[in-house]
Amino acid sequence: MFYAEFKSIGGEDTYPLSQIVYKGNDGSLLEVNHNRSAWKTRSPNEWKSLFGNRRAGFAPADLSGVWSKRELVLPELPVEDIVTLQEGWTPLFNAQKLAKEIDIKSLHVKLCGNSHTGSFKDLGMTVLVSQVNHLIKNKVNIKAVACASTGDTSAALSAYCAKAGIPSIVFLPSGKISVAQLVQPISNGSIVLALDTDFDGCMKIVQEVTADKSIYLANSMNSLRIEGQKTISYELCQELGWSLPDVLVIPGGNLGNVSALAKGIDDLLSLGLIDKKPRIVVAQAENANPFYCAYKRNFDKLEPVQAQKTLASAIQIGNPVSYPKAEQAIKNYNGIVEQVSEQELSDAAHRADKIGLYCCPHTGVALGALFKLREKCCISSDESVIVISTAHGLKFSEFKADYHEQKLNGISSKYANAIHNIPAKAEAVMDVLKGVI
Ligand SMILES: *Cc1c(COP(=O)(O)O)cnc(C)c1O
Repeated sequence: MFYAEFKSIGGEDTYPLSQIVYKGNDGSLLEVNHNRSAWKTRSPNEWKSLFGNRRAGFAPADLSGVWSKRELVLPELPVEDIVTLQEGWTPLFNAQKLAKEIDIKSLHVKLCGNSHTGSFKDLGMTVLVSQVNHLIKNKVNIKAVACASTGDTSAALSAYCAKAGIPSIVFLPSGKISVAQLVQPISNGSIVLALDTDFDGCMKIVQEVTADKSIYLANSMNSLRIEGQKTISYELCQELGWSLPDVLVIPGGNLGNVSALAKGIDDLLSLGLIDKKPRIVVAQAENANPFYCAYKRNFDKLEPVQAQKTLASAIQIGNPVSYPKAEQAIKNYNGIVEQVSEQELSDAAHRADKIGLYCCPHTGVALGALFKLREKCCISSDESVIVISTAHGLKFSEFKADYHEQKLNGISSKYANAIHNIPAKAEAVMDVLKGVI
């Protein structure tokens, strides 16, 4: 009854999900196209109770935020072929103190990085690797799965492939990712290729290598990943009592995640689980801002840029693959694109840490954009906001330590908390405390 297939976003051509195909006839991106009319055979209340019941259970697929929505993800995948690391069901941090400071109705931060490999990339990778696992079980010739990455995609790919016993190959821009990100695929046994280029350069080469279909391409131009990531919208909706906030803010690089978030909202509208559209804000770093620039030119076209170095290294991307889908997302959801400087993203991340968060630089980009848009009154005081936090701060310890030690190049650390280096003497301790408590 429920089924899905690949469909070109530019044309009408379709392909079965069992086919190894990444682009349509005319070169456009594919999307997983569900038979949405079949969804209507269940009422909104039936869907709500199905998902509610699964939340209460312990079956392995139900423990995953992604696979607990499996009918809407890959409806025909046998449950026993799922490769899961219990992704999803991440915390929704109530940042009410910050909401008060900037005078908005409410602010929550969805901690998508509190996940097995420390970023939201797990959500998409569980779907892609499960489908590959299914194909391999059905004797399709796939020798390995490969991706180009700014760090987090490769960490996710290597973990899921290792769990499934499938070889993986990762293409990384040499010297441009954090130590934590680099160590993950090494530990999980991937073939790690560090290339003397940037992400866009790696992306070009991995596409050449995967033209041979026995090496499967895991980048987000592979629309299977979007199906996992779109469940962020479902999960938010479910945990907010089947509603969404007024505004969702998300950092964007290759623009797969914003496309996914929008697709999830499309689905919720079509299931009748919500009837009001939220607005979507995409936040970019000034140093890698092709989407922001296109937005400012009314989306005339994407002009790829040479991405400059940014602390938000996972979004240091100059030629975003999912541009057409992201453009549609902004247009459908009354969206805004904002950019922030290195100073703004650093301060925003560490300002938010003061209320108990532990923000990665990309989350800093999203928060910085929120602060800016609030100042410009593009977001009003009666609006509820959710910021999508994309990675765990622990993956970016150098960024955080350097900020507090005032060692970030060209950045003045307004929210730094300096260590007190003192002799091992009680009086010295008392002297320090006298001034502060
Ligand atoms: C991948 C990634 C992003 C950007 O997501 P896109 O889908 O490429 O726009 C943002 N933050 C982190 C931490 C990421 O790993």
